[in-house]
Amino acid sequence: MTTTIGKIFDLTVKKYPNKEALYDVRKNLRYTFKEWSEQVNRLANALLKEGVKKGDRVSTFTFNTEELGTAFFACAKIGAIFNPINFRLTPEEVAFILSDATPKAVLFEKALEPVVSSIAGRFPQISFWFIDEEPPAYAASYKEKVAAASTDDIQAEVDENDVYAFIYTSGTTGRPKGVMHSHRNMVDQALLCIAAQKLEKEDVGLVTAPMFHCAELHCAFLPRINAGAKNVILHQFNPKAILSLIEQEKITKFFAAPTMWNMLLQEDLSQYDLSSLKIGLYGAAPMAPSLVHALHDRLGISLIQAYGMTEMGPAITFLSEKDQLRKAGSAGQAALNHDIRVVRTREDGPSDPDDVVPTGETGEIVVKGPCMMLGYYNRKEATEKAMYKGWYHSGDIGYLDEEGYLFVNDRVDDMIISGGENIYPREVEDLLHSHPGVLDVAVVGQPDDRWGETVSAFVVKKDPNVTEQDLDEFCKNSNSLANYKRPRKYVFCEALPRNASGKIQKFVLRKQLEELFTQGS
Ligand code: ATP
Repeated sequence: MTTTIGKIFDLTVKKYPNKEALYDVRKNLRYTFKEWSEQVNRLANALLKEGVKKGDRVSTFTFNTEELGTAFFACAKIGAIFNPINFRLTPEEVAFILSDATPKAVLFEKALEPVVSSIAGRFPQISFWFIDEEPPAYAASYKEKVAAASTDDIQAEVDENDVYAFIYTSGTTGRPKGVMHSHRNMVDQALLCIAAQKLEKEDVGLVTAPMFHCAELHCAFLPRINAGAKNVILHQFNPKAILSLIEQEKITKFFAAPTMWNMLLQEDLSQYDLSSLKIGLYGAAPMAPSLVHALHDRLGISLIQAYGMTEMGPAITFLSEKDQLRKAGSAGQAALNHDIRVVRTREDGPSDPDDVVPTGETGEIVVKGPCMMLGYYNRKEATEKAMYKGWYHSGDIGYLDEEGYLFVNDRVDDMIISGGENIYPREVEDLLHSHPGVLDVAVVGQPDDRWGETVSAFVVKKDPNVTEQDLDEFCKNSNSLANYKRPRKYVFCEALPRNASGKIQKFVLRKQLEELFTQGS
């Protein structure tokens, strides 16, 4: 049988028609699987009526909404390509994606209307659908379109190898690229994530991270539906709302990026009944071992880490609950049916996946697995480079230990070279994170005439009295950080620049340092 995202949705609906499937907190809307399926069919029929055909793109530009989830399945059922756009992007960045993906329709919400209104005129061929009340003049009402459509089931010919989505990378390494995934890729990813999180129909998951990002969409939202579990959709990240919803909806499992977990820990947890919570999934960015310990001790839940990248679906390794403390700092073992290698990096082109380094030595992480992208849309050269010899080249540096656990040091581009020695910022960040006066930290290289680069740390204070000297003494006394890795400069700031999926934008910090540097401060 062909397995598609539309099929797995229909099978869950058939199995659990009257079970609660979804609660959209913003609209106070609840659907059983059957009710949700009727809404999915209505949207699918409305898109067909609009002229959307198999292979056409449909974009969403919303925060976390029921409509985004409904569009995900409606597109899958008619064979249209789903394209969720990052809600943090500027008008020009959104315009870039629209001109690259050339969608037939864009579904968007009121809070993002200023962005859309500033560029909509450039795209007369696109049909804009407004999901809230009172659409602007250039847009149609999503509600009216959907209400006028039938709930008849769709019987489109969709193959498991058809492209299901274009998910754009965040563009930290250049222009965003449209990662093409097939239905089959995502069905396999859902199965891996069901197994890793032991998802069951009784589970209640909270959607807290952005749904446009594959960590939330593919590792949490979709697997829960596949398992017959319920999704509670929170419009935007808000620590207090998360804690209240855990209590109110008896949330059992959810995903959040490390920075989000850190923010939750700053709240007064004793005010909430969090006893329903069983598993916390984290990933998308490195998590300091001190934060893993704090979560473990204060929340008393099982933690699971996922490591991966949009191009691989994303998850390629999991660190199970049993290994959290024993293997703190590791990203875990290869996900089911994945093959991971660490290979020698090359200056003059993609690393050779057959040039494997000995166990324990660092190199580039390359991977093969069932959820590997089909390629980047319209980017032949970038695709060939990224998938050289059939292995996806992650651009991350790491090593495998004797037990086959992967340790991710850093991105190749973030590595600091000082006096000819490689320094992985993450090692310094993990140490500084364990200082009680530090809330958040990022380490970057600063150009230096003598050493090539020296280490600089951007620090968000938890204790307002903490000083540069305190932190320097802490590093000196740690006995775990060689002298050349010690930060030579500290910059205290209110917050670190992060993208919507919680990754620190180090290129912004390097630019800030350069400005400080050229000003001679
Ligand atoms: P680009 O930088 O190419 O625009 P992106 O930021 O959109 O891509 P994502 O696919 O969102 O890329 O992120 C992938 C990267 O996130 C990984 O290559 C790795 O550097 C980092 N990452 C993801 N999970 C973890 C983890 N558990 N631990 C450490 N780093 C992680």
